[in-house]
Amino acid sequence: MDDFAVIGGGIGGACSALFLSQKHPTTLYEKEPYLGGCASTFKHKGDFYNTGATTFAGYAENSYMYTLFKTHGVHFQKKKLSSALTVLINDKVIHRFADQTLFLEEINTAFYHPKNREFYTLINELSQRFFHIDGYMYSNASFLEKLSSLTSFFPLLRSFYPYLFTNAREYITSYFGQINPEYLDYLDNQVLIVAQAKLSSINMLTAALALSYQFLDNYYIFGGMGSIFEGIERVLPRVEKKCFIQKIIKTPECFVLQTHRTEFKAKNIVLNSSLFDAKALFEDKTILNYLGGYERLNSDLSAFMVYLEIDTPKHLEHHYQIIVPYTLPFTISNSIFVSFGDDEDRKMKHSVTISVHTTTRQWSKENTLEQKNELEAIIKQIVCEHLGLLPEEIKGSFSATPQTFKRFINRETLGGIPMLSKNLLYKLPANDSPIKGLFHVGDTTFAGQGWLGVMMGVRNLQRLLCKN
Ligand SMILES: Cc1cc2nc3c(=O)[nH]c(=O)nc-3n(C[C@H](O)[C@H](O)[C@H](O)COP(=O)(O)OP(=O)(O)OC[C@H]3O[C@@H](n4cnc5c(N)ncnc54)[C@H](O)[C@@H]3O)c2cc1C
Repeated sequence: MDDFAVIGGGIGGACSALFLSQKHPTTLYEKEPYLGGCASTFKHKGDFYNTGATTFAGYAENSYMYTLFKTHGVHFQKKKLSSALTVLINDKVIHRFADQTLFLEEINTAFYHPKNREFYTLINELSQRFFHIDGYMYSNASFLEKLSSLTSFFPLLRSFYPYLFTNAREYITSYFGQINPEYLDYLDNQVLIVAQAKLSSINMLTAALALSYQFLDNYYIFGGMGSIFEGIERVLPRVEKKCFIQKIIKTPECFVLQTHRTEFKAKNIVLNSSLFDAKALFEDKTILNYLGGYERLNSDLSAFMVYLEIDTPKHLEHHYQIIVPYTLPFTISNSIFVSFGDDEDRKMKHSVTISVHTTTRQWSKENTLEQKNELEAIIKQIVCEHLGLLPEEIKGSFSATPQTFKRFINRETLGGIPMLSKNLLYKLPANDSPIKGLFHVGDTTFAGQGWLGVMMGVRNLQRLLCKN
């Protein structure tokens, strides 16, 4: 019997299996034939596409992720980007450069404001200070553990108090005095892609962290995001792929994991399936009550994806955000995020991944095909118009709805728990739980979504387990 069974090979599961395997007999179970979940790379009709995540940030030399990968010999090929993203809004083009001076020229050309320099200096400084503070740990094992773990956040609270309890939109409008509505739309769309919410529903610290994404080291990953997981898989001792865990039975001695063919046993489990979808795995009332308690955090947020195969002589940047003046049908957004493979990346150079925010509710089962076709056509038209691609340079296309994500990744809601002001830290699930032997990791638990947020949860899990 294993000490740990990790269910799901997304960022959280695969990275937890890395540190767990070092000290404990551990098996990672993944339903698909490849690891990565929302950050995987899949093959379709002979070509490769990034499923969802395309940007990779926060891999600074002193970061937890960097140390974890170095310690375990996880290798992948990457290239540092000078600009995290190019934003197209009406007639304006804004390169979100990592270099603050270069970026100030860009933003002042697009949206001049005398306070821009001071504002982005503040944003940059808040983010550096945030990622410098370390040592906190968040537990939910019991009321007392939770209370005591929350005290470890005092340094963060002390340092960021004025920004934690201030609404970001109010802060920004009062900071700038007068601000061009188009500039606000730009800012709203920048925070949406990181925090999964707009300025009006997040606090100023969250907004600052979201806006500072460009100042962190951003990398292009050769061979697709999935190549990071190939690097992880190479060093993991036990990975069971194409292994869908359908039920988990808790017994006094262990957890029994059932697939449609067989059973596995483990003393502890780390769930990397989304917390909201994990309920289907259990029959134990205490566990169901515990998981059900978090249902209120289920935002219903999801994504619509378009994948393109292109063949063009045009040189394109790696990542674009195209903001249009209207909300796209069947979505909640007026922007699309478009990522291109690098010209020198043999595996991905014809591959394009496009995402837009939607909700699961907007995809009625009866009309999905018509909805898909309509939205896919609109998105292709926007891409051609704004990036100068010719329709005949698009050699193939297909799209994915929230239901497609459910079929492949076993989750319909995406983007984790939006970092809303009302979702205060103590309300979030931690990486341990009051149920002995049950742990979670991933973007529906502490600390958040994306490589940066999920890795903070992995680090927290490692600390919680080391403590015991
Ligand atoms: C469209 C989109 C674009 C994004 N862009 C970026 C980006 O550019 N940069 C960034 O950093 N982040 C991005 N994100 C966010 C990021 O991809 C996710 O937050 C992160 O990948 C989630 O990781 P996770 O650990 O929660 O695992 P998940 O990705 O949720 O993976 C869970 C895994 O568990 C498996 N699984 C589930 N249930 C079972 C079961 N019962 N048995 C076996 N296996 C199971 C699934 O198949 C899956 O592989 C994006 C997300 C989306 C949806």
